[in-house]
Parts: sequence; structure tokens; C-alpha cells
Amino acid sequence: MTLLEDPRTAQLAHRLAAVQRRIGAAAAGRPGPAPTLIVVSKFHPAADVLRLRSLGVADVGENRDQEAAAKAAEVADQALRWHFIGQLQSNKAKSVAAYAHSVHSIDRASLATALGRAMEARQQETGRADLLCYIQVDLSSAVPGDAPAAAPGGRGGVAPSGIARLADLVAGTAGLELAGLMAVAPLGAAPEPAFEMLAAQSAALALTHPGARAISAGMSHDLEAAIAAGATHLRVGSDILGPRPGVL
Ligand SMILES: *Cc1c(COP(=O)(O)O)cnc(C)c1O
Repeated sequence: MTLLEDPRTAQLAHRLAAVQRRIGAAAAGRPGPAPTLIVVSKFHPAADVLRLRSLGVADVGENRDQEAAAKAAEVADQALRWHFIGQLQSNKAKSVAAYAHSVHSIDRASLATALGRAMEARQQETGRADLLCYIQVDLSSAVPGDAPAAAPGGRGGVAPSGIARLADLVAGTAGLELAGLMAVAPLGAAPEPAFEMLAAQSAALALTHPGARAISAGMSHDLEAAIAAGATHLRVGSDILGPRPGVL
């Protein structure tokens, strides 16, 4: 059976097309290039990544190093960009530097330093390109009444007041390239005010780091709101691959 006759490939093609139509509709009339779709393949097998590649997908996202490293190795012959989007322990930096094109979840100085060290070694061995880095921002302060960080809707990341320092560190670290900002909308609240806050932080960051204009925001249920607020990179999992076993 070829991939094109495979029912799972047909299902993925159908769902991918639906998401692409939503993106096209939400981005219609918006200035600038169309947002980049990163298909989040966590909890789904490498075979699905191959199917997605056959459908033209070039960007895939993962949130756990062990799973990502294994999957990337399985399909290493494919022209894919791997985006690491989850909480990352510094002791995983070396592993991530071996396969990741981007890390969207830089949330502390020690992680940036560890990734810089890992990239220095990796670049000496392989000459690979710099690792694109997004500062993950905690948007819980956009929710009225919620206290930052401790808020129940908090999804990780630095408080807005911590962005500038971390951005300077990333931009000043060899092997790392500051791409921009990333966030997950707070749980249980409308995403619009949170994504507007992210857009404002992105504009502020561009004053000191004009090359760091990427905004990684928007998931299956809130990609339209993210696009309206200027997202350049969307991270969409379940609306393409289906529900993940044992989560959410
Ligand atoms: C899983 C995940 C996504 C994708 O979420 P869906 O709701 O499945 O589209 C996006 N971003 C992050 C950080 C994730 O962990």
C-alpha cells in the first residue's frame, strides 16, 4: 500500500487542508507573509510524521526530548524542521541541539546558557546553523484578577518584565539566534487579551532586537485569535492528528 492509498494519510490530508483553510481565512487581508504552520506530532508515531511530510508539511513540533529525539532519528532522511515547544531541562540541551531547528520555550537564563554550550559543541562537530530561540512569555497577567505565575491559568514562561534580560542573553550567546516570543494562552480565559499583550511585548522587543519579530502563538482552538494578533508561527496538534492518548 502506498502512502496515498493509506486511510490514515487520507484522514491527515483532510484535516490538514481544513486547518490550512482556517489559516487562510484568518490571515486574509493581513499584511506580511502567511503564518508558518508547525504541526505538533507529540504522542503520535514517526509514521504520521512521514505521512505529513508526504503531504508537504516541513515543520513539526514536539514537547518531550526523549520522544522527539527518537522520532527525529527515525525519519532523519526527511527534510524536516523540528521545533521543540515544551518545558526543557538544561541537561537535555545537548540532545536537543542534535536535532532541533528551533526551541520555542526559553524560559530562564540557565537554559539559554546550556543551549549555547551545547550548540557550540554541535557546531564544531557538524557546522550546523544557529538554533532559533523564542522566549516563552507567561501571559497570565493578561487575565483580570489572576496573579502572574501562580495563576491557575499559567502555562509557563517568563513574566513580561523578564523578557528584555533573557532576550539580551540569548542574542549575545554564540550558537543561538533570537527569533522572537512564544506563548500559550491562559487556560479558562478568552485568548484575545493575552495575544494582544504578546503582540505588544513583541513590538517592544523589536525596538532593541529588530530581527526578533517572530510570534509563536495559536493552537488548535485559538489559532484565529493568534493570527488576528499577528502570530507568525502556529503550533497545531489535535485538529490535524486527532486526540492524544491520555492527555487533555
Ligand atoms: C501540544 C501543544 C500544542 C498543540 O496543541 P493542540 O491543542 O493539540 O493544537 C501547541 N503548543 C504547545 C506548547 C503544546 O504543548
